[in-house]
Amino acid sequence: MATHHQVIVIGSGPAGFTAALYASRANLDVKVFEGRQPGGQLTITTEVENFPGFEHGIQGPELMNILRKQAERFGAKCVYETVEEVDFSVRPFKLKTENEEYTADSVIIATGATAKRLYGNGEDKFWGFGISACATCDGFFYRNKKIFVIGGGDTAMEEAGYLTHFASSVTIIHRRQEFRASKVMIDRAKENPKIDFLLDSVIEEFLGEDKGMIKSLTGIRVKNVVTGETQELPADGVFYAIGHTPNTDLFKGVLDMDETGYLITKPKSTYTNISGVFACGDVQDHVYRQAISAAGTGCMAAIDTERWLAEQH
Ligand code: NDP
Repeated sequence: MATHHQVIVIGSGPAGFTAALYASRANLDVKVFEGRQPGGQLTITTEVENFPGFEHGIQGPELMNILRKQAERFGAKCVYETVEEVDFSVRPFKLKTENEEYTADSVIIATGATAKRLYGNGEDKFWGFGISACATCDGFFYRNKKIFVIGGGDTAMEEAGYLTHFASSVTIIHRRQEFRASKVMIDRAKENPKIDFLLDSVIEEFLGEDKGMIKSLTGIRVKNVVTGETQELPADGVFYAIGHTPNTDLFKGVLDMDETGYLITKPKSTYTNISGVFACGDVQDHVYRQAISAAGTGCMAAIDTERWLAEQH
């Protein structure tokens, strides 16, 4: 027999926990499925300096713990389970995790987005053996090493800065001259003596030693996309910072999405195309993608849900 809840929140970043906080504080029975990355992307970031209320900044994982506890204080039940199937064609909605079946009157989707990879050119071989998408997780292993960061956005600047705490040098490889990152982040990276830049460039191949179980990245072949010239450079580590893909596989063919897979919500609301299913945070926002804007839409989703549930009775 499936366990029933008034509100099921899928995802546990700032959007999911804020939705859970507001919905449980509105006296609704709320369950949060935290998914494969409990706490979401902020658990793999370092210091969050721009979440209002924390004058001196706060570590990402700590912020997520606070948000989780705040939601639990009002009765939200947060569990480390991952939703693997949804059926939104029936009422109540049906959801399956790896352990159990659930039903819900309403669902709030806050599954976020995941760091992009390039695949190919030796990446698969050396992923986890010198290539990573998480400086916070893996930076520690690169003490006094030569590191490259791919990307020209805020993440690339931030990760590069963080990695200088460990590495002997950090080179940002970006495929064009102009950066997508904000001026303050670019300036900070440029002022850092350990960071340099390789522009108009892409990695053509990851090079290294492959002894079966033991693999190690030793270099990269980089191509200048303007001149076509290539060069081989020694590299101990490469960190990806090339953006994100929304976590929406579960909803393909079920919910309306844009061409890149972000869920579409009705303007000025968190309503999806299915009545009773709401979406908030990075899974429906490829523009702002900030912890605070995700939390803001999480609040909106809870209010939309509460009002929608009230209308149903
Ligand atoms: P962005 O989408 O902003 O940047 C991705 C970067 O990767 C771009 O420079 C892009 O190049 C490059 N890129 C994408 N695909 C490829 C590819 N296949 N090969 C090579 N390069 C590629 O992502 P971010 O993760 O940097 O930032 C996401 C959001 O999070 C932004 O809104 C950002 O402001 C925010 N953020 C804010 C922070 C803060 O304020 N502290 C910290 C980190 C992120 P191109 O420019 O040519 O498209």
